[in-house]
Amino acid sequence: MNRIQVFIPILASIVLSCNSPKMKVDLIVTNALIYTVNDSFAVAESFAVKDGKFLAVGTNDEISAKYTSDNIEDYKGKVVYPGFIDAHCHFFGYGMNLMQYADLAGITDQESIYLKLQEQQQKAGGEWLLGRGWDQNLWPEKEFPDNQRLSELFPSVPVYLIRIDGHAAWCNAKALELAGITENTKVDGGEVLLKNGRPTGVLIDNAKELVFNLIPAPSGELKTKALMAAQNNCFAVGLSSVTDCGLPMEIILLMDSLQKQNELKMCINAMMDPSDENLEHFLKTGPFKTDHLQVNTIKLYADGALGSRGAYLLEDYSDSPGNRGLLMNEASYFETICQKAFDANFQVATHCIGDGANRFILNLYGKLLKGQNDRRWRIEHAQIVAPDDLQLFAKYSVIPSIQATHATSDMFWADQRLGADRIKSAYTYQQLLAQNGWLPNGTDFPIEAISPLKTFFASVCRKNTDGLPVLGFQMENALTREQALRSITIWAAKSSFEEQKKGSIEPGKSADFVVLDTDLMNCCDDAVLRANVLKTVVKGELVYNVVE
Ligand SMILES: [Zn+2]
Repeated sequence: MNRIQVFIPILASIVLSCNSPKMKVDLIVTNALIYTVNDSFAVAESFAVKDGKFLAVGTNDEISAKYTSDNIEDYKGKVVYPGFIDAHCHFFGYGMNLMQYADLAGITDQESIYLKLQEQQQKAGGEWLLGRGWDQNLWPEKEFPDNQRLSELFPSVPVYLIRIDGHAAWCNAKALELAGITENTKVDGGEVLLKNGRPTGVLIDNAKELVFNLIPAPSGELKTKALMAAQNNCFAVGLSSVTDCGLPMEIILLMDSLQKQNELKMCINAMMDPSDENLEHFLKTGPFKTDHLQVNTIKLYADGALGSRGAYLLEDYSDSPGNRGLLMNEASYFETICQKAFDANFQVATHCIGDGANRFILNLYGKLLKGQNDRRWRIEHAQIVAPDDLQLFAKYSVIPSIQATHATSDMFWADQRLGADRIKSAYTYQQLLAQNGWLPNGTDFPIEAISPLKTFFASVCRKNTDGLPVLGFQMENALTREQALRSITIWAAKSSFEEQKKGSIEPGKSADFVVLDTDLMNCCDDAVLRANVLKTVVKGELVYNVVE
């Protein structure tokens, strides 16, 4: 009896030390509140990271029993989420804006815009004066501007100012002159706005390309700087992956080369624009994938935006009788490209704002997809969908890709465009979610701010950052907090076929995570907007660390 009592503990310790030596890993995080965003939405306390991937996730005891590391970080109750993913943005465009364009977003009168432009001219110089982000809905007159004063202040330098939604440009007389635009200019899929028979300088959709195409191409160096600047800002708000919606081949290849030099660490799902060059290059070889980059999708535009009345509606605009907006191209154009994508096994993602555009593309997709499928063809924005058409998303497994901050940016004027009834079929995120059971969320930055926390807040609270309207906008379509978090992590990953790789904190997935000082699942509404990103980690590498 005595011998046994003595020997058993010794044997047990020998067995433990022989069979279970602790494995050395690159990083252990302990004492954290970890939202894994796995299927059961489980929380954990600790995880181990090795070779850029999560190796194990569990309690502090489970992880410390099996793993050791020279780099053990005690998070002291801080909150960890999977790295945030923006499912629809313009990452490169945002970077170029930072480099080249005066930021006119949020400016509430024209005079302040002129002042900003004068500052920009002094700062940047250059042959052209560029700006972005104006919104006449914020001005007292709430009407499209004309260019009289703009042309007086800037008589010799061409001025090109993009509206907040990217679907209209405001140009001075010099720019119109260079582009040869007169009151007689007609453009397919666009419009030259006139007042008293003269061009006002406002160019809608394809018409603005006449001027845009004259702007000298930026240098390669500037493009690289733009990507790096965009990356820095995105890491600081907790983004570890983005989907860039519509890029020329040259930029996709630049991203690839900067990633291979380990300069650009942001993971990018690059949707290509439907240029012949892109289709020729990428469709031939099939979806292109590296560790950091994926090219798997063709991005199309069915219509314009609601703010500039370019969205294609089934009935007239409530505030512009006789006007229903327009489709950007002939049906045959969309059919041809979708067929090519279908044959090459690529995704298609089409910008659809108006209920006319949504119906048109849902039916066009349906002709090819026929029924339920796993091709994950997407409709970007899905902003106004006629109630009868909602079921087409489920019927053809089409993914509605939403941007919750669009609802809260548009809500104070969208009802003027749509009327009291039709506004109820706009920004119907909960109804769209019900179609497939999941949906990706993004910002469309630089149209909206880059922060995924603002997306989370707008999804859940349906209020702007001033907390208005007090009761929220059409709250029946608010997302729950769990749905909102899934929409900017695992569902965003799924929308680009990357849910096996990222989007949750689970063994085998890329160690992309973000550390916040706030528990988004349990804090009060206002605290979401005050939450601070403390660290962002991509593939196990610390890419942002707050200066404390
Ligand atoms: Zn977009």
